[in-house]
Amino acid sequence: MSTYRQSAAQRDGLRPDQHVRHISAIALEPLRQRGIRMLLIDFDNTLIASREQRPSAAVLAWLEQVRQMGMEAVVFSNNRSARVHRVASELRLRCFPGVGKPSVAAYRKVLAACGQTPATAVAVGDQVFRDIWGANRSGLHSILVEPLDRREFLPIRLLRPIERLVLASLRDRRLREVG
Ligand SMILES: [Mg+2]
Repeated sequence: MSTYRQSAAQRDGLRPDQHVRHISAIALEPLRQRGIRMLLIDFDNTLIASREQRPSAAVLAWLEQVRQMGMEAVVFSNNRSARVHRVASELRLRCFPGVGKPSVAAYRKVLAACGQTPATAVAVGDQVFRDIWGANRSGLHSILVEPLDRREFLPIRLLRPIERLVLASLRDRRLREVG
C-alpha cells in the first residue's frame, strides 16, 4: 500500500458516518430498521454538559424514545468519576466508565458484555479522535455530535481546530469524489 493510500485510509477512520448538531437530532427509526439495538453514548459533552447536574429535557425525551423503540442506550465513557455513575443511575442506563476509547478493545469488551456486535450497535460522541476514530476502527456506525459545552478542558479545546481541519478535508474529498 502506498503512503498516500495509507494516509487516506487513516483519514477515513476519522470520518463520521453521520454528523448531527445534538444527540436528540439522531433519527432512531432508520437505525432500528438497520437492525441497531444498542447505542454507545459518550458522557461528557454528548449526553450532558460539563457543568450541568442533569441532561437537558431534549436529551431525556430522546432517551425515552430510544426505550420505546426497543433499543438500549448505554453510557460509554473514558470518565470514571462518581458523577458518571450518579447520572447514569438516575437515567437508568447501564454504565461503562473508564473504557479507554479509542481502543478497539474497549468497544469489543462492552459489545460482548451486552450481547451485541458491531453490526447491531452505533457509537455517539463529540470527539473525532476518540469517539469517531475508535468506533470506525471497531466497525461501528459512528455519529458525531457538536459538543454541548464550549468551555472544555484545555487538552480537548486544543484539539478542536485540528478536528475541524480534518472534517473539512474529508468533506472536500467527498465533494471531489462525487463531482
Ligand atoms: Mg465527550
